[in-house]
Amino acid sequence: MVEQPLPPVERVRPGLWSIPVPIPNNPLRYVLVYAFETDKGPYLVDAGWNTDDAFGVLCQGLTHAGFDIANVQGVLVTHIHPDHYGLAGRIRESSGAWVALHPADAALVHDRYEEPDDLLDRVATMLRRVGAPEAELESLQRSAMPVLPFVVTTHPDVLLEDGDKPEVPGWDLVAIWTPGHTAGHLCFYERNMRLMLSGDHVLPRITPNISVHPQAPSNPLADYLASLEKVGEYETEEVLPAHEHRFVGLSARVAELRAHHEQRFVEVTDAIADGAVTAWDIASQMQWSRPWERINGFMRRAAVGEALAHVRVLEERGLVQAVEGEPVRWELVKKS
Ligand SMILES: [Zn+2]
Ligand SMILES: [Zn+2]
Repeated sequence: MVEQPLPPVERVRPGLWSIPVPIPNNPLRYVLVYAFETDKGPYLVDAGWNTDDAFGVLCQGLTHAGFDIANVQGVLVTHIHPDHYGLAGRIRESSGAWVALHPADAALVHDRYEEPDDLLDRVATMLRRVGAPEAELESLQRSAMPVLPFVVTTHPDVLLEDGDKPEVPGWDLVAIWTPGHTAGHLCFYERNMRLMLSGDHVLPRITPNISVHPQAPSNPLADYLASLEKVGEYETEEVLPAHEHRFVGLSARVAELRAHHEQRFVEVTDAIADGAVTAWDIASQMQWSRPWERINGFMRRAAVGEALAHVRVLEERGLVQAVEGEPVRWELVKKS
């Protein structure tokens, strides 16, 4: 496969730059880091993976935009995933910048990146409950471990809650808490230019993974759908997402994403009606971007988590119910 070149470093608006930073061996290819110019130095939204290559490309991109990594003042991180948070610690080391995260994601740093043993136990428990075949348990349990080297474990200096205004002089930014993709996902809205920095919450073409896992809230998809409504209310001239490309039409995209999940609910209900009982069975009968047999490792875990996220919303709507046990079995609620 020929690697496509990264998109160019781009001036999005006067004083606001978009810098693509590569993600190794990942179909998303890059994360878009946004740099806000101020009198004190640049402030970044998101950081990138922790590789030398990514760090080098970020430094070059900042230079191209007329900045110096050593002058970075703050890093606003949309969420804890390695492609967003991974390099934050290294940027702080190079510049003394503060790193900001929502408290719900900050609370996950220790278990996820510092001492993952307990989390691995909880992943195993969950895999049994969703009905993962015994033969796949061990490999699936450890399938997220290869990303650990891509994060410099760091704790945030600043916690941003919903409605907080991060200190970025000359810009009117507000943090919007949008739980779903992660428990503490943040979008940032710039009021003067009506720009929505949407992180992974709203992307132009792909749908973010929303899944049940041991570090997710109990009903992440219900949170996600509420968070979609929340950002949809902002008058937005352009959306600046963390992957793919910037785009116009936030409310139309929100409507598409909502319709997508309604379609998924139908798939889940059909799967159960056709005899699927565990979340694993349900996932294996849903439509994915490739056949189920070719979804492996962490992708498979994410797919099952996503199936379960849909099941939980249907449970909340009173359409399906759980039969407790190991694995948990799902059935349709019979209409009386
Ligand atoms: Zn993410
Ligand atoms: Zn991402």
